[in-house]
Amino acid sequence: MHFDLLISGGTVVDGTGAPGKRADVGIKGKRVEKIGDLHAATATRVIDATGLTVTPGFIDVHAHSDGALLVDGQHANGIRQGVTTEIIAPDGLTLAPLSAENYRMYRWYLSGILGLPPEDLDMSSIKAARANYHNKTSCNVAMFAGHGPIRLEAAGFNDVPLTGQMLDKAKNILHESLEQGACGLATGLSYYPQSYSTTDELVELCKVVAEFGRPLSIHLRNHNVDRAPTGGGVEEAIEIGRRSGVKIHLEHYRTQPGSEGDLESILAPVDEAKSEGVDISLETYPYPVGSSFPQAFFPSWVHDGGPGKLLERLSDPELRMRITAEMKEVMYGRPAGNVWSWIGPEGDQSLPGMLFDDIGEKTGVSLEDAVCDVMVASNLASGFRGAPPQSTRVWRQIEEDVMKLLARPDYMVGSDSIPVGQLPHPRAYGCFPRVIGRLRRRYGYPLEQVIQRVTQNPAERFGMTGRGVHKTGNFADIAIFDADHVNDRASFEDPAVFPEGIPFVVVNGNVAVDHERVTGVLAGEAVP
Ligand SMILES: [Zn+2]
Repeated sequence: MHFDLLISGGTVVDGTGAPGKRADVGIKGKRVEKIGDLHAATATRVIDATGLTVTPGFIDVHAHSDGALLVDGQHANGIRQGVTTEIIAPDGLTLAPLSAENYRMYRWYLSGILGLPPEDLDMSSIKAARANYHNKTSCNVAMFAGHGPIRLEAAGFNDVPLTGQMLDKAKNILHESLEQGACGLATGLSYYPQSYSTTDELVELCKVVAEFGRPLSIHLRNHNVDRAPTGGGVEEAIEIGRRSGVKIHLEHYRTQPGSEGDLESILAPVDEAKSEGVDISLETYPYPVGSSFPQAFFPSWVHDGGPGKLLERLSDPELRMRITAEMKEVMYGRPAGNVWSWIGPEGDQSLPGMLFDDIGEKTGVSLEDAVCDVMVASNLASGFRGAPPQSTRVWRQIEEDVMKLLARPDYMVGSDSIPVGQLPHPRAYGCFPRVIGRLRRRYGYPLEQVIQRVTQNPAERFGMTGRGVHKTGNFADIAIFDADHVNDRASFEDPAVFPEGIPFVVVNGNVAVDHERVTGVLAGEAVP
């Protein structure tokens, strides 16, 4: 028997949670042809995996790499972690489906998160967008239909209720997007124009998603909470599931500094809804703080009309006073304590790494004014991340919570990576090895269980047929690592550092990482 690629001598952990066993994996073309004792077989290329673990490639269910993948398809920060499939467009922060004009406008508005991808791409449909990634990236790319773009196409960047003909138009675009392979709908109700919606609008849209049996991936509402009868939060997500019949996927759902150790309070409403029949899955990343862009701190009215209007308002002295006053009232979380992670080419290049609190002091204006000034100077191309808690006790408790959550069969891992900027959140480089290496070993969880959460679990939830499990006939997406030594090396202080202990990664039968080096092979496909 002859294979194109033979992975010999490793311990195969197949992704189902079953115990690992010593076996060879024979690959022909894109697919796994045989798993077993293949010592008599020949192969064009043999990878000696003696002493290593061979698992399905990891699936990242929350990656803000929409723009980064279009700039550099090699995508070393993701593929070096063993991630062979990324689901982009979480929170509905994405660039399709958008007309050419709306694409340029939303690209500008989202540059703090998605960076600056080419200006002239055809992103007019999910089909067109998929073609921009297919065989142009090292990893497979799945995408949600984004609530943001769909709302822009139906109603513009305007604070208007989506009803009547506009709602019909949105439903048609969503229907077409799902037909063209979107793996669900994603919304982020701290972001715009998504937060202009009401619960009723989301229920109407999700009825379309439910027809396709796909999930709604949701970042819970903390903007315009008056537009949800529940006041936003997890209760709104549950209500959407209950009323529309859609499967709910809760984005980055974990404890945080202040609620560390209290899993009961976040899980009680979820488990109660599940017992009533609402279908809920969840994801988390293994860090105590997050990352975003400063738009998240501005009141709702400041965004109305889009990025041009937003910049005009920030630059108007009278409106500026109103904006900063509203930012100071506790609205959506305070900007204090965050660190600039990316400043675009037009902004002050000395800012990345600096605390928000310190730029105010340096320039002699309030922290809120300083944030507005940076937004204007960088033409909106700026992003931030949190700083981890000073108490290592709190930090470790959150990590322990994350691993307890991942012991639940309804949990998976979404890195929430934002691979843009001078000092990104370390999750963009270290999320998966941190879970399968450092934290799994520290808290003593079984490897097979942890691997199931990042392979079979997401593949089934998001409809990735033929992926997520090692078996004959499935696509050969494979991570090969040293289970005793695999580790993240990306830190808050030095984030853009690759992990160790993952020498080989295979995507659709092609070697994408070879002896810890990216090969430059762009064999990733638009999936599912
Ligand atoms: Zn996110």
